[in-house]
Amino acid sequence: MLNTLRRIIQAVNDARDLDQALDIIVHQVREAMAADVCSVYLTDEVLQQHVLMATDGLDPDSVGNVRIGFEHGLVSIVANRAEPLSLDSAPNHPAYHYFPETAEEQFFGFLGVPILHQRKVLGVLVVQQVRAQRFDEDQENFLVTIAAQLASAMAHAETSGEIEKLLGQHEVTDSRPLQGLPGAPGVAIGTAVAIYPSTELEKVPDRPIEDSDIEIDAFHQALNSVKQDITKLSNRLKDVLPDEERALFDAYLLMLDSHSLRGVTAARIIDGNWAPGALRRTIDEQIQNFAEMDDPYMRERAEDLKELARRILHYLMQDVQREIDYPQNTVLVGDELTAAQLAEVPRDRLAGVVSATGSRTSHVAILARALDIPAVMGAVSIPLGRIGGQILIADGYSGNVYISPSKQIKQEYQRLAKEEETLVAELLNLRDDPSITSDGKVIPLNVNTGLLSDITPSLNSGADGIGLYRTEFPFMTRQRFPGEEEQLRIYRQALKAFAPKSVTLRTLDVGGDKSLPYFPIVEDNPFLGWRGIRITLDHPELFLVQVRAMIRSAVDLDNLQILLPMVSQMSEIHESLALIKRAFDELKEEGHNVNMPKVGVMIEVPSAVYQAERMAKLVDFISIGTNDLTQYLLAVDRNNAQVASLYDALHPAVIQAVQQTVVAAHAAKKPASVCGEMAGDPAAVVLLVGMGIDSLSMSASSLNRVKWVIRNLSSERARQYLDEALDMEDAVEIRDFLNTKLENAGMGGLVRAGR
Ligand code: PEP
Ligand code: MG
Repeated sequence: MLNTLRRIIQAVNDARDLDQALDIIVHQVREAMAADVCSVYLTDEVLQQHVLMATDGLDPDSVGNVRIGFEHGLVSIVANRAEPLSLDSAPNHPAYHYFPETAEEQFFGFLGVPILHQRKVLGVLVVQQVRAQRFDEDQENFLVTIAAQLASAMAHAETSGEIEKLLGQHEVTDSRPLQGLPGAPGVAIGTAVAIYPSTELEKVPDRPIEDSDIEIDAFHQALNSVKQDITKLSNRLKDVLPDEERALFDAYLLMLDSHSLRGVTAARIIDGNWAPGALRRTIDEQIQNFAEMDDPYMRERAEDLKELARRILHYLMQDVQREIDYPQNTVLVGDELTAAQLAEVPRDRLAGVVSATGSRTSHVAILARALDIPAVMGAVSIPLGRIGGQILIADGYSGNVYISPSKQIKQEYQRLAKEEETLVAELLNLRDDPSITSDGKVIPLNVNTGLLSDITPSLNSGADGIGLYRTEFPFMTRQRFPGEEEQLRIYRQALKAFAPKSVTLRTLDVGGDKSLPYFPIVEDNPFLGWRGIRITLDHPELFLVQVRAMIRSAVDLDNLQILLPMVSQMSEIHESLALIKRAFDELKEEGHNVNMPKVGVMIEVPSAVYQAERMAKLVDFISIGTNDLTQYLLAVDRNNAQVASLYDALHPAVIQAVQQTVVAAHAAKKPASVCGEMAGDPAAVVLLVGMGIDSLSMSASSLNRVKWVIRNLSSERARQYLDEALDMEDAVEIRDFLNTKLENAGMGGLVRAGR
């Protein structure tokens, strides 16, 4: 059973489009279950009907014509109840609805299961049999499993408009956005450039080209290189393999020269697709042909073809001449975009970012905000393969993405983008104004940095200092641990640029989703594993080198603060303080003119919230890392788009934990700041002011937005909103409440597109 399942799922994944996938499903499921009929109905929300979209067993002419209203028939019962229905005699059921065009009167046994994606019914999968007998439990479980797999393929097809096309609803396709998550504020309108893992053919996108000659050349060269490799391989195995086994290599060479690979791909390139995209399409098509063959030997040839394609792709990707040509207003789209890919696009060409995975607190989103680039995260259903070259609108406030939008939508967003420009210009005027509430409480605003080697944006932002310098980034971009002098140079640059304003350097916080290429950590649960302070305390030699470099970087400047990440135990603070003291004493002994810096602890683990007062007494300040705190309190992975709707720092539990931490810090007479992304969220800032937060640290691009909120708010009013929010049930209610307050105060432009 498992093998059959795998085979069907593989065939569905390899299908050219949804139409073909559905055909494969109905044929193969019917065969596997020895049923007389297998059909798929798709749900048409617009017309409120379930439409027969593929069948093996009913009259093929009825496909597309049988439409069952939401209130009728057995299919609707399955969809409405969102659970399977199994009957021994369908015609005897009171809801049975007979469609003469299907000629289904001869079938009695009926089993229907819903196709559900994220709680929504996308369609119904049905098998029927002549015998008046129920399908057995095994068969039911098999069909439920197939439907669950089909659901994700269909969810993709739904968001890319394929389902609507199949259902004949062309007109609604382009007005409905694909839903992602807000990543970085702003609106981007531009041309999609898809980035993908360069070794996975399935993920290679289409990309329009202008000069097909270069691409054809590259393709032919790649083919020749693979041919040479295969010939070499064959020769090397001459003495080991019998001739008949080596004939396989001759078959490979023939495949590489065949018209169906060489000629067909070249034709696709001439039609305007780049070589890797054209290759993917050719291979998809051929693999499909192989998969449909009955002969298992021929089916196996699909694997050979994939292997050859991987080799060709490898060479194509090495061809440096074919570097990506980023158009003006590039919207970078990818499955798992990395900070490096983002940094590769010339800044003046990058208009926006859309990532299929991740959420607001993923490091790519943090980088986008640092660069002031609108970003949408977790756009799971973005059709990566076909998006290259299309016009995209990415709304970083709502998380909506429009693919090839209609003229009206484009015009509307162009208008909003203009308003955004005005807003940004207005916000710029706040640069030199103090961050002070309307009743006179000063709340210094600092920047988070470390992501970029260039700290100019942070300097220009008018910040009161650096509240969080993530030191892991200089570590990530090297081939080995940077030494004391190397680190000293980097830290010194930041401290000097900001002096006399304070700079908070955080000790190395790798592990979790941040790994070093030269220090791999393999664990089952990295976010609960060897991370942050746990690593550096296990490696005092690394910790000491880093702390020495930090302390030395402040010579004659005296504006350094050191921050300890991922602390969950008191002992970690005791040990860290002892090491910092040791580094300081040693430096003194060596004759350096150093001062003991202030040391703070990050509160980002639930245990630290409960021990916050005790911890605060040991250190000079508290900094709340709401990104991790939210993840650990809510048990929601901050990078997992599947559960991203559950991740919100405005969850009442997070708000209470932050408030409790601020109270604890103040009880120990120590200042508390927030350096997680919550500090840059205008709605959340209202609550933080209400809690009496002492300072905030955020991306440079959020600074003036937050300042606007603070300057228009009194502490009294903020406390009142906090009390009201704490009485609410969930993050959605709290966010709506705060957004409305901002909107009423004329600051709606901070939480949605437009002014
Ligand atoms: C946090 O967890 O809130 C934080 C500021 O640290 P990072 O995002 O680097 O984990
Ligand atoms: Mg953290």
